[in-house]
Amino acid sequence: MSESRRVLLLMTAHTYRAQPFIEAAQRLNVEVVKAIDVPDELAEQWRNALPVNFNDPEAAACAIVEYAAQQPINAILAVDDSASLVAARASEALGLSHNSIEAAEAARNKYIMRTLLRRGHVPVPNFRLCSTADDVREVARQVPFPCVVKPLMLNGSRGVMRADDVVQFIAAADRLSRLLCSIEPAPDPKPFLVEDFIPGFEVALEGLLNHGQLRVLALFDKPDPLDGPFFEETIYVTPSRLPVEVQASIAKCASDAARALGLREGPMHAELRVNDQGPWLVEVAGRSIGGLCSEILRFAHSAEVTLEEMILRQALGMEIEALERENQAGGVMMIPIPSAGLLRGVSGVEEAKAVTGIEDVEITAKLNYPLVPLPEGESYLGFIFARGDSSQCVEAALREAHAKLHFDIQPLIPLVT
Ligand code: ADP
Repeated sequence: MSESRRVLLLMTAHTYRAQPFIEAAQRLNVEVVKAIDVPDELAEQWRNALPVNFNDPEAAACAIVEYAAQQPINAILAVDDSASLVAARASEALGLSHNSIEAAEAARNKYIMRTLLRRGHVPVPNFRLCSTADDVREVARQVPFPCVVKPLMLNGSRGVMRADDVVQFIAAADRLSRLLCSIEPAPDPKPFLVEDFIPGFEVALEGLLNHGQLRVLALFDKPDPLDGPFFEETIYVTPSRLPVEVQASIAKCASDAARALGLREGPMHAELRVNDQGPWLVEVAGRSIGGLCSEILRFAHSAEVTLEEMILRQALGMEIEALERENQAGGVMMIPIPSAGLLRGVSGVEEAKAVTGIEDVEITAKLNYPLVPLPEGESYLGFIFARGDSSQCVEAALREAHAKLHFDIQPLIPLVT
């Protein structure tokens, strides 16, 4: 029966998140149609994929509906965040179960998200919408410290900065303004958020929503403190070592957040901070965990089912209830960029792979290319994956493997003009 099923994957041309979905589809005997984000001018050049423009969700959805009239589609999945609006629009037009357009928009835009979460009584920090046209000195006089300055639409902590006083705030706001202008050079003012800094430790929750019901697939501890001034992710380990009642309060907060935003179907990734007042919602996305991190999640007794297969199964209405996460602990380290410069060489990879518990080390940064750390950068040096009997062993293995890696980074010499 499954042979006639077809799923449309919305992806950017260079995403490394698509491959696990393609492999999962092969395992399920589901045909994949790739819909790739390309500007209209380049659409002609794409022969093996449906070219769509994510910046024009209405036109992209029309192109998908037209395609589906010839080749029926059973599910549409957005591989990257940037396609969630297109997926919602096209699914709605084709009558496929999916999040509403409004929910997809809320999960993409941090201001709409904060507004809806507050309205839904989900714990969020006080926030205010600012703009690059504002007088930052004036704003600095009004905000309480410490605070966090952040863009509305970027990912991976890009542009997110903590400020503890007026001087730091002005520097952070200027820096964010420069970053936003470099991404979108049009002269109009760019909005950004300023919100109270939430003290505490951080966790990430990976879940699947089915008709509005959240199923927690994994709760990750983030054992390295994330206190700023920039917020580079490093280690994620699951299962969580937190007491069960704290885990339950985190799951409830994430579920309340999904409801407040109107997210009802498909993958959900939430970041929360926890302190003596309980969990606080930092962010919710209607997609699965980023980068290559999903590698460490496996389901079913045989631990053969990947997170992407779970997502695909759910989207196609196939069995997932009986598929539990495997018993082993798992962890991933996103290898931080220690400094800006040219990556000239990497050593110690084999030694790192030989550490007990390490499954793989993948260096994704390219040699001889510039490395840009946060807050401007948007990538890591790579990923270290580990599995073991306990979360403690996994964390220790990740740290040991990381210590074996050496990155030769040549500082960039500024041009004197
Ligand atoms: P992104 O979507 O780019 O990841 P987030 O809003 O999730 O942006 O912020 C990235 C990280 O910055 C969070 O995971 C958290 O560590 C930190 N952070 C963001 N907002 C706050 C806040 N109000 N208080 C404390 N930390 C924050």
